[in-house]
Amino acid sequence: MKAYTYIDHNHFEMREKPEPKLQKETDAIVRVTLSSICTSDLHIKHGSVPRAVKGITLGHELVGVVEAVGSAVKTVKPGDRVAVSVETFCGECWFCRHGWVNNCTDEHGGWALGCRIDGAQSEKVLVPFADSGLEIIPENVSDREALFTGDILATGYWGAKISEITEEDTVFIIGAGPTAICTMECVKLLNPKRIIVSEPDAFRREFVKKHYGYVDVVTPEEALDYVRTHSDHGGADRVIECAGLPATFRMAWQAARPNAIITIIALYDEAMELPLPDMYGKNLTWKAGGVDGCDSKAILKLLSEKKIDTTPLITHTYHLADIEEAYELFENRRDNVIKVAIEP
Ligand SMILES: [Zn+2]
Ligand SMILES: [Zn+2]
Repeated sequence: MKAYTYIDHNHFEMREKPEPKLQKETDAIVRVTLSSICTSDLHIKHGSVPRAVKGITLGHELVGVVEAVGSAVKTVKPGDRVAVSVETFCGECWFCRHGWVNNCTDEHGGWALGCRIDGAQSEKVLVPFADSGLEIIPENVSDREALFTGDILATGYWGAKISEITEEDTVFIIGAGPTAICTMECVKLLNPKRIIVSEPDAFRREFVKKHYGYVDVVTPEEALDYVRTHSDHGGADRVIECAGLPATFRMAWQAARPNAIITIIALYDEAMELPLPDMYGKNLTWKAGGVDGCDSKAILKLLSEKKIDTTPLITHTYHLADIEEAYELFENRRDNVIKVAIEP
């Protein structure tokens, strides 16, 4: 079968690989029906994911149909249409029992798919711990609606959840890329007083205004003033940084009011500067890291109830055979791309 493979830094290539076979009783084989390209794939390409293993098939965002399950798998069966979590987790270790599945202590725990084990930019994929990593898609949810459940929607859902948002809060979201938009959709459900989004790209600002009109959209130049004058206590009560640049990292704490919570869900390509003397006395709470991707059931329920909609994000669709072209478009942000769906 065709498998888009991580050969080396700045070198991905389509390879022919044998179809995956069940290895453990907790595994499932999923036939990919739709996958996607994620910014994290570009981070692998650029060498900023040191744990990525050369030779693996890329791709960690997908929906598909279960083809086979190991004898210990209880929650899914062949023929089930499923969303796949970006993270692999055993569900039993101390971290998993606390919901911190990103730090599952199993050898495959955390982000394995399309990073340390073969992923989804292919025709079939082996999913370890199928009971925790697969979730059945409700009948009234299409593949395109469910595509982002296991990764960027999981991240947005988690980012909103850990930010402890109340109905009195002004929430400032930095960036209007795909993950930021998923975050907006999940923040919206918590009914904060106001959501402000900062984004440098004019097309993306218009895109958000058109599809997600409940947020205030500003440029980075306008952002600090706007946030300070449109919040009740001189700055945002909650800041969620989704952009991942030194300037946006700085904006995150500058836009926050004293005692605010700042949640960093972006992945940076370099170390950030945290000038603690400049923010001394502001008493900020920082939260940062990678998604604990164990809320697929809740997310699919929201999709089924039509409370969130991320289908506008799919601006382009390519066939797996043309994935190189899709990467080129996505990486260079040509043609106002937001997300690319890949059909095997
Ligand atoms: Zn991703
Ligand atoms: Zn675990």
